[in-house]
Amino acid sequence: MRKKIIAANWKMHKTVHETEKFLRELMSSDMPHEAWIAPPFTSLHAAAQIVSNAKVKIHLGGQNMHAAAQGAFTGEISGSMLKEAGASFCIIGHSERRNLFHENDAEINAKLKSAFHVGLTPIFCVGESAAARDSGDFMDPIELQLSSGLLGIESPHFKNLVLAYEPIWAIGTGKAATPQLAQETHNKIRGYIAAKWGGDIAKSLPILYGGSVNVANAKQLLSEPDIDGLLIGGAALEVQSYLSILRQQQ
Ligand code: PEP
Repeated sequence: MRKKIIAANWKMHKTVHETEKFLRELMSSDMPHEAWIAPPFTSLHAAAQIVSNAKVKIHLGGQNMHAAAQGAFTGEISGSMLKEAGASFCIIGHSERRNLFHENDAEINAKLKSAFHVGLTPIFCVGESAAARDSGDFMDPIELQLSSGLLGIESPHFKNLVLAYEPIWAIGTGKAATPQLAQETHNKIRGYIAAKWGGDIAKSLPILYGGSVNVANAKQLLSEPDIDGLLIGGAALEVQSYLSILRQQQ
């Protein structure tokens, strides 16, 4: 049985105060399923204090990290800093990091290795552009992201890895992939992982779908056999909509 993960990527939203308000409201609800939330770095420590009393587990994560343990990298944050602030996971290789902040596959590979080294679970994001999808060769960029991102990662680490398939054309656009298209792509990704790293790793690897998930489309996406959860941006900013999505993963 693969882990089912309904993860929230808050991006650059919510102050410490707003984070606390969200978490208190979430924890006073009938939370039907574990939550995974990546708030801004500034909120992590305060969030960790609050969720330590949660009846249903709330995992906290970073949205990015630097590969180095420490150093002269103004504005950056290390995996061990995230961990000590209360994170247990970290989103790595999000397309906004790749496109807006020019992260390349080699840097993402170093970040993944560093996350494993400090004991953070990476949510490693891959996905194709609209042009690649239209050309029909959409698996080429995804396979390249996977092979270079996971280069040299030893197989025991795969049990602590989460993948997220996030087609760039679906992120923040309101145009989610259909459940059929997402399922087909997840299945191909799993097939690629099986061919390269073995069937056992592929079978146990959680692959989340992300890109304009909302209350209306979550259930159908979650009912597909190769979709093991969701990575949600906009629809996870309001407690009630995040909760309704959590309720759809029973
Ligand atoms: C994301 O940024 O990871 C994401 C999936 O955003 P949205 O749900 O808003 O498309």
